[in-house]
Amino acid sequence: MGDALAAGLVEDDGEVHAGGWSRVGEPRVSIAAGFPAGGRVGAIREETRVLGSGQQAASVQMSDERSTGRGAPVVAGTPGVRAFRERAETRHDRQARIAWWDQERLRRARIVVAGAGALGNETLKLLALLGVGSILIVDFDVVSPSNLARTVLFRPHDVGASKALLAAERTREIDPALRVAAIDGDIGRDLGLGALRRADLALAGLDSVNARWALNRRCRLAGVPWLDGGIAAVEGQVTRYDPAVGPCYECTFTPGMARRFTARHSCTGLVRRVPERAVPTTAIGASLIAALQAHEALCLLHDRSEGLRPGQRLTYLLDAHRAFVDDLPADPDCAAHVPPAMPSRTLPDDPRTLTPAALVAAVLPDRSASVHLGFDLVEGFACPACGVFDPVCRPAALVFEDAARCRGCGAEREVRRAPAIGADSPAWERPLADLGVADCEILWVADEIGGGMWVEIGGRDPWPNADGDDT
Ligand SMILES: [Zn+2]
Ligand SMILES: [Zn+2]
Repeated sequence: MGDALAAGLVEDDGEVHAGGWSRVGEPRVSIAAGFPAGGRVGAIREETRVLGSGQQAASVQMSDERSTGRGAPVVAGTPGVRAFRERAETRHDRQARIAWWDQERLRRARIVVAGAGALGNETLKLLALLGVGSILIVDFDVVSPSNLARTVLFRPHDVGASKALLAAERTREIDPALRVAAIDGDIGRDLGLGALRRADLALAGLDSVNARWALNRRCRLAGVPWLDGGIAAVEGQVTRYDPAVGPCYECTFTPGMARRFTARHSCTGLVRRVPERAVPTTAIGASLIAALQAHEALCLLHDRSEGLRPGQRLTYLLDAHRAFVDDLPADPDCAAHVPPAMPSRTLPDDPRTLTPAALVAAVLPDRSASVHLGFDLVEGFACPACGVFDPVCRPAALVFEDAARCRGCGAEREVRRAPAIGADSPAWERPLADLGVADCEILWVADEIGGGMWVEIGGRDPWPNADGDDT
């Protein structure tokens, strides 16, 4: 387009009925088809929006072929027709002109962005530009030097700072009208299901099989669809998962993914120290896949059938300039296919004070019930040589395998690990937050005869402006 000016004529109803292009400095525009026959509009001199390089707005003469040049008096020959002038326009004016666009729907949308690295940065940039009203960023990592070549939101002096908190701050700068919050924590444990289920969808820019596995499990329980993004050197993928229909991420596990998944766990379920697997990527791949992911998010929010269907994966090959979509198969025996956690009770109590004992007393007082945390808790280590039990009461995902060695005698201690906390557990009287339970979590309280109920607890709502106008 170069230095071309765009000009057009609009009716009062906003319809463009004529338009044309002109070079900068050349006020004449050609009148396009649709203009009333004979071009009786004459010359209209108006402040006209200029879509060109180096120019913001210029006073241009719009005329038919017979009119005079710049500076001529305004003679509007056709009632109701005026120049396409610079009107009081909104930030989202251009995208709102798309036929199916619903800016208000985007303003009301709540999106969880899991991972604020290369892909997450690009996704956040786009969500902010698009005007997605509420964004919750979850990442436990800090900015590293290698992030700087792929993350538009981070600066050299940010190295060492929380990715999630910084990304939230910088995303807010793009559009201060947006509500952006962050959790400097783990997507599998630190975003309560009660908060996650208030999201329209989650967008993943994660770098490990384990993190995707955890998000998949959480989204299925919360009943929230998610779009997984993945990037490699010159290719990338976007996959749509819907907890209500189709395969889930776990259905797609290949032997290689299963190996990478288990490599991070010892046989006793503790964390094994494995070197970070650095995948070759560039900002180009991140930008491309984030754009495709954001587009799929738009399709989903607008209920458009044009996007990926649940269980479909889009692969883009940069070198080959080729994109294709495949349907992923569902595994009927997949362990992740559980009904959503629909709470039948809500307790406003904060996990910083609520204990498993108090929770059971509140909801199933006459039963010997137990509280399922949603993850395995290491209750403690028992040393067979010293005969000492050392209580730990932390999520197994946070306990490294070398902690099992006895500091007294050096023997390998027995790990006491449990998914549920009963009256006989050392964690029974400890606050749920100390055990690793998130704010707004939904917990399964099981009775002794195989029944139970989902209970949503309180705490700090991680969504920004929780009592805003859009719920
Ligand atoms: Zn599955
Ligand atoms: Zn010992």
